[in-house]
Amino acid sequence: MPKILMSTTPWFSLARSFAQLARNAEKSQSSVSVVKEPLENPPMEIHTLGEKVLRQSARRITKVDETIRDLARDMLRSMYSAKGIGLAAPQVGVHKQLLVIDLDIETPTTPPIVLINPEIIGTSAGLETYEEGCLSIPGVYLNVIRPSGVKVSFRDEMGRPKKMNVDGLLARCIQHEMDHLKGVLFVDRVTDHENLVKELKDHGFNTKDVRSFE
Ligand SMILES: [Zn+2]
Repeated sequence: MPKILMSTTPWFSLARSFAQLARNAEKSQSSVSVVKEPLENPPMEIHTLGEKVLRQSARRITKVDETIRDLARDMLRSMYSAKGIGLAAPQVGVHKQLLVIDLDIETPTTPPIVLINPEIIGTSAGLETYEEGCLSIPGVYLNVIRPSGVKVSFRDEMGRPKKMNVDGLLARCIQHEMDHLKGVLFVDRVTDHENLVKELKDHGFNTKDVRSFE
């Protein structure tokens, strides 16, 4: 015999809240969503400054299928494990034009954004200085000047063509991650060289691995 749960809530109210829960789950669902919790053994290793793999260009993805969605899921798991908000495929040694972004890693139901073959089709006139960091250069945070807004076209995880006008942190993140697809790292764009040298040294990185010092 199953136990009977005692409840003072009328059944119709429970039914209503379950329906609401189901609707919310559906709304937040993305076919690549994974649990946003750090894993003891993340599926993919994130490469760091100095490794050649970060300097190679990524190729366009010709077919968006389950293999690509699996890659996006594994990248997300590795990104959440490292407490990052964005990751590009070259950072995990895969030279495909794929980015995963999640600016709300603390909220389990917010779906991540997947950008496949992203292209910047417009930039704002205004520039903005903002402090950036990178999972491939852990501990280093430095100011970078970039356009404050961009218009980007891409395919989503289902292969559907999309266009977005973005500004703020999302614009910043997309531009940073798109640089990875060309083998460019944010430290290549830092203009305050004095601070750059100090930060790299303090975190065990070598200035010879930054393009502006080559
Ligand atoms: Zn990065």
